[in-house]
Amino acid sequence: LDYHPSGRHFLQIPGPSPVPDRILRAMSLPTIDHRGPEFGALGRELLDKIKQVFKTGNPVVIYPASGTGAWEAALVNVLSPGDRVLMFETGHFATLWQKMALRLGLEPEFLGLPGTEGWRQGVQADMIEARLREDGGHEIKAVCVVHNETSTGVTSDIAAVRRAIDAVGHPALLLVDTISGLASADYRHDEWGVDVTISGSQKGLMLPPGISFNAVSDKAIATSREAQLPKSFWAWDEIIEANRNGYWPYTPSTNLLYGLNESLDMLLEEGLDHVLARHQRWAAGVRAAVAAWGLEIQCQDAALYSPVLTGVMMPDGVDADAVRQLIYERFDLSLGMGLGKVKGRMFRIGHLGDCNDLTLIATLGGCEAGMKLSGVPLKDSGVVAALDYFARHPLDAR
Ligand code: PLP
Repeated sequence: LDYHPSGRHFLQIPGPSPVPDRILRAMSLPTIDHRGPEFGALGRELLDKIKQVFKTGNPVVIYPASGTGAWEAALVNVLSPGDRVLMFETGHFATLWQKMALRLGLEPEFLGLPGTEGWRQGVQADMIEARLREDGGHEIKAVCVVHNETSTGVTSDIAAVRRAIDAVGHPALLLVDTISGLASADYRHDEWGVDVTISGSQKGLMLPPGISFNAVSDKAIATSREAQLPKSFWAWDEIIEANRNGYWPYTPSTNLLYGLNESLDMLLEEGLDHVLARHQRWAAGVRAAVAAWGLEIQCQDAALYSPVLTGVMMPDGVDADAVRQLIYERFDLSLGMGLGKVKGRMFRIGHLGDCNDLTLIATLGGCEAGMKLSGVPLKDSGVVAALDYFARHPLDAR
């Protein structure tokens, strides 16, 4: 188009998610002195509140970086050159993290199921347990898994991975990427015994991209003192020290932190349980639509359906990217593309953060109309099915 389309764009990719006006307004305030007293008070307040979202009593380190930076931070803080790490192929993001481990001079072992099978399932805790059992010499220093695999819409059972490590009595650290799960899918850093949790701003926290997180265990902090991979900008020690007074050792992303403070207020005012229930309900409504269309969902394990996004598989012979492009051009609706091994085979509907029933109905309307225009055979109306689901399942008042 050579003019700006009317109405509001529908940003229904699984992150960045729409930023609420309340957060945009908070971020529009003047940038202040990051060494002044006003900033220190803000820093202390948000560093305290964010622990509730990770469900941890320990520090949460915040970086002015995208999620990829926080991935690197997690690895370089606790590992040494040549360390063996066990990773699991759940999809594109697990694959990228594994590539990063290789580039950092680690020795990742990439467990997985054959072909694209693992891209429809979660982390197989029994495979992790079996591999750790063989590792009597404790060569494996960390188990790294993705909680909510954004490329597929599968949310793995992290407590099961913890149980697998404990069943063997293996000392490996547990590192978990919940970049797209935090504040949308149930996540419990302390209860699940996670050593480093990695997250980002642009998904469930409803912020623009640009800040990311490491929640750390005592064991992870102790390990970081000995670990030998080079680290300076990412090193936790100086950040945690400066954070005690609400400051950073360098210039933080002041305005994104205004936004984070507002986001935390919004999430905690609503109550995390309510936030999670809202996501589960939307996901179920979207799945009702996919079922009515007669299409397949990328996730094959009903216990692991993501509350954050749903991967919709296209029938053989249909180019999912062409369908997505038509939907974007005709309806000003952005959907997630198939990544890596499933490129062109599926598209992803994000249902996270600042949405409501009607934005999702509109999204499903765009998908339905776009698929019809693309000649995708649909059994029934997904829009009607989702409307019906939402009507029959009101979100209980708190
Ligand atoms: N891990 C997961 C699960 C993600 O969804 C993403 C981004 O979508 C990343 C890692 C990478 O984060 P970023 O793009 O913010 O660097």
